[in-house]
Amino acid sequence: MPRTQRVRRQALVQVLLARRVVPLTDAETLWGTIASKVPDEPAETLADALTALNSDLTQIGLEARTVRDQASGDALVVLANTRGDAIAEGATAYTGAELAYVRALVDALGAPDAFSISTTDALSLSTTPPLSKRAASDLLRNLVQRGWIAERQGKYVLAPRALCELDAYLRSDENALECGSCYELVTIGERCTGEGCRGALHTVCSRDTCAACGQAWHGTPVGPS
Ligand SMILES: [Zn+2]
Ligand SMILES: [Zn+2]
Repeated sequence: MPRTQRVRRQALVQVLLARRVVPLTDAETLWGTIASKVPDEPAETLADALTALNSDLTQIGLEARTVRDQASGDALVVLANTRGDAIAEGATAYTGAELAYVRALVDALGAPDAFSISTTDALSLSTTPPLSKRAASDLLRNLVQRGWIAERQGKYVLAPRALCELDAYLRSDENALECGSCYELVTIGERCTGEGCRGALHTVCSRDTCAACGQAWHGTPVGPS
């Protein structure tokens, strides 16, 4: 590999490691800046650089994925943990009480059809061993900073990074909702009003008919409204 190519990819991976979630437009701008400082011929595209980086990153349990923010539709580059239990991955950084709290929080945020918890209720989640409100407040702030949860209209929701890393875990819930247009999980959007139907759509995705029951689309909101 040419030295210039390695230097450019290293600069990119350092930003991803530091920020974990970067809007694709920012990543493109950043890649342009890196490319102007370390010129290379032929110029490698951002997509090619991410693909190349992923062959190394997957070996250490990480992967750069391009996902869409389900509320805004904006494309994001997420550096996600790919190994096993994504909650346990952070376990070394948490005390037993904090880990129990994170698990309870994820279960509350992954539960249909609310897919959210009010910021006040989040402080009172009962867990064993218990976590003080002060400690819960600090932990919630930390999870927001790490791009795991986000605050939306006075409620906490799972952020794109958590949706990425917990995809398999959240889908193991038989009530999980999958978008009939883009097939990603729906925690903010609409679900089909058809009786017993689990069809769902993101707000930014659209279909004339429900992918699950085939009826004309009539949706009712899910997630924080
Ligand atoms: Zn969708
Ligand atoms: Zn339906």
